[in-house]
Amino acid sequence: MPRILLIATGGTIACVPSPDGLAPSLSATQLLSYLSPAPQGEIACLDLFNMDSSNIQPEEWRLMAKAILERGAQYDGIVITHGTDTMAYTASMLTFMLQNLPIPVVLTGAQYPILRPDSDGKANLSGAVAAAQALPGGIYIAFGNAVIRGCRAVKTRTTSLNAFESINAPYIGTIMEGKFINLTNETKAPGAFQYYPDIDPRVALMKLIPGTTPRQLTALADCHMRGVVVEAFGLGGVSNFRRDHAEALQQLMAQGIPVVLTSQCLYEASTPDIYEVSRPLKEAGVISAGDMTTEAAVTKLMWGLGQTKDTERIRAFMRQNLCGEISIP
Ligand code: ASP
Repeated sequence: MPRILLIATGGTIACVPSPDGLAPSLSATQLLSYLSPAPQGEIACLDLFNMDSSNIQPEEWRLMAKAILERGAQYDGIVITHGTDTMAYTASMLTFMLQNLPIPVVLTGAQYPILRPDSDGKANLSGAVAAAQALPGGIYIAFGNAVIRGCRAVKTRTTSLNAFESINAPYIGTIMEGKFINLTNETKAPGAFQYYPDIDPRVALMKLIPGTTPRQLTALADCHMRGVVVEAFGLGGVSNFRRDHAEALQQLMAQGIPVVLTSQCLYEASTPDIYEVSRPLKEAGVISAGDMTTEAAVTKLMWGLGQTKDTERIRAFMRQNLCGEISIP
């Protein structure tokens, strides 16, 4: 049987009631003790930290990446229990920090604490273990029957058990009666494993609304942001009248701050090519996020800024498909 490492980091799955609300506190061993029957094969446990994932930040991503790097060689697969709220960001970032990983790392969690009899935590955790025993190398999320490439996952529901969707990419697999079923004939990534410890978290995400002022955008330079992701309207629209977003974004780019254009629409790709309002952005060098999720665009930009200060190289990284995160640049 494959050897699996279970890394616990907190989240609802590990929560117990406290006078102030649900607080994560169960250990990896305690989480495993809820599974009946116990999963087959050897499962080692590691308690990395115990946090609500709303508190997970770049420092925790580095800890997780390091734990995978240092322990991965001793195991055939890793399962990480994690809060659902920022799981998609973590899965995307780990994908960029650990490229062509030789073993599968499967993140999972729950909408309800595992100690509740009706919790989805038990099925999710045993499904994640089954997936980690079967998948090729890479970062995945297994949640509520769905197995999704980590950099394509988005949390789309606050309380339903099928909380995550695969956006603009096929589901990698499904979990049926505790067994992993491969839907894509996923195979081992061809490239050599690369660990990238350096990321630059100085990235802002701005969702435009009708009425966003140019100053709200240019102020990001005053806040020492080194990269900006803009969730534009629809296919990539920004306003260029009265409150001129296009002009403000051009000012950021003129200061050497890469601007990545993505969409407020969850599905399908965005582009600055089509409409008159966004064309000047293209001419000024805006980077299209294509069909990447916002989570992938943000974490990829942090990763790119960690590798180089050269905007042209960052543009090339952002357009390139590094790990399955983009198919339409
Ligand atoms: N607030 C929790 C967390 O992200 C939610 C969850 O795990 O479902 O840690």
